[in-house]
Amino acid sequence: SNTRRLVVVSNRLPAALALEDGRWQVRAGAGGLVSALAPVLRDRGGMWIGWSGTSDPEVDAAGLLADFSSEAGYDLYTVPLTADEVAGYYFGFSNEIIWPLFHDLQTRCRFDPDYWRMYLDVNFKFAEVVARKTTPDDYVWIHDYHLMHQALFLKSMGVKRRTGFFLHIPFPPPDIFMKLPWRWKLIQALTEFDLVGFQTLQDRRNFTGCLHRLMPEARVSGRGAVVSVDMGSRTLRVGAFPISIDFNQFADMARRREVADRAFGIKEALRHRKIILGVDRLDYTKGIPERIRSIKTLLRRYPDLKGQVNFVQIAVPSREEVDEYRELRTEIEQLVGRVNGEFSFPGWVPVHYHYRSFPPDELAAYYLAADTALVTPLRDGMNLVAKEYCACNVDEDGALILSEFAGAAAQLQKNAYLVNPYDLEGVAKALHRVFHWDKEERRRHMSRLRDQIRRNNIYWWVDSFLQAGIAKNLGDFPAA
Ligand code: UDP
Repeated sequence: SNTRRLVVVSNRLPAALALEDGRWQVRAGAGGLVSALAPVLRDRGGMWIGWSGTSDPEVDAAGLLADFSSEAGYDLYTVPLTADEVAGYYFGFSNEIIWPLFHDLQTRCRFDPDYWRMYLDVNFKFAEVVARKTTPDDYVWIHDYHLMHQALFLKSMGVKRRTGFFLHIPFPPPDIFMKLPWRWKLIQALTEFDLVGFQTLQDRRNFTGCLHRLMPEARVSGRGAVVSVDMGSRTLRVGAFPISIDFNQFADMARRREVADRAFGIKEALRHRKIILGVDRLDYTKGIPERIRSIKTLLRRYPDLKGQVNFVQIAVPSREEVDEYRELRTEIEQLVGRVNGEFSFPGWVPVHYHYRSFPPDELAAYYLAADTALVTPLRDGMNLVAKEYCACNVDEDGALILSEFAGAAAQLQKNAYLVNPYDLEGVAKALHRVFHWDKEERRRHMSRLRDQIRRNNIYWWVDSFLQAGIAKNLGDFPAA
């Protein structure tokens, strides 16, 4: 067997345990990351370490995952967490401190010191499992803000591993990062990885800016996507690796007969009016209330559009146990009601709001049916919806309106219509403009967007991260 394995570590495993109809089931995780990493893990005899998704001590997580594991072709190991640990480390530190702070929304942070302690305890637990299950030959790739202390704790145990860390969310500028009570310990922990990856060059610059303020001994050298940071006793690499999607999987889905039929059905039900589409987890970073207000602005400023357009918002339930998310849901539902109350007439309701998750082919049908995707997060690490919309736009007749504060804007700025999500009139104007693009203009922009995403797809992303992580021994670590 292969001794140089790839080990992926993330908060959740790519398979989660869920109680369905009173029985515990293993549900395979969906999404581009899992589909891109699974073949690499399979080929290298790798493993994935993460939390199973349940804190119920009665559940035999390891047993349930064993079958999944033998079918997937790589090992899965769970880190058992109690309900208190999940509350402090996941809902608390990760989602009430790091999530809002790193999205520049510091007023939503709850800097509870107990959260910090639980974050460290749980990170230590993860590191113990990593230490136990891996060997010095393995490459350990840690994902996201839940697990920023892995390298530091592995070293404190005297365990030598090659480690890479990728942050899926933005990294904030120094003025915001400095608000974190544990700023120094956290940034120091990040410098213990051999490679730290971010979504965009801006995130990487924010990180080196914070390093400059908090660890003046750090020396940054080099240019390009990946730079070196000399810490005196050791060096680490820091780079930008914009995550992406399995382009062909989406494009192929959108070309399927059933999906095209379904898209036609959606258009027909909306009487072939122009469709503006929003798709998001229901999260305060996504700018959904602002987006609905911009639709109201659109209908007020351009009254000729009344009866001509529909705004369809798909909001996927998320973190429903948190008060803030429940309040946001209420706010959105009230706004939808208000806009529809103001503008509807018999035969036309401007806003169609869905609060549930859609199966992939239904989502593809919406992408295919939409004339414009309105992707306006207040801040976003990348935003995959923007890329999925383009991949599914196989007739190249749609337009992408994209927030300048989404990581995706750095790659797509030339052919998406960039907007400031707080500028309601600017967003309304953008919508009005792209409606008046002619067919050729839409095709030109969309085909360039699609070329870019086709090239820089999720497989390209995995390769570029791993190459940067193991570049010194590329020969020892054959590409999959
Ligand atoms: N998505 C989904 N079900 C839905 C709607 C969306 O699984 O009903 C997926 C969508 O395909 C995309 C992901 O949710 O891959 C959202 O990713 P994004 O990067 O846009 O935002 P995030 O939720 O990670 O902040």
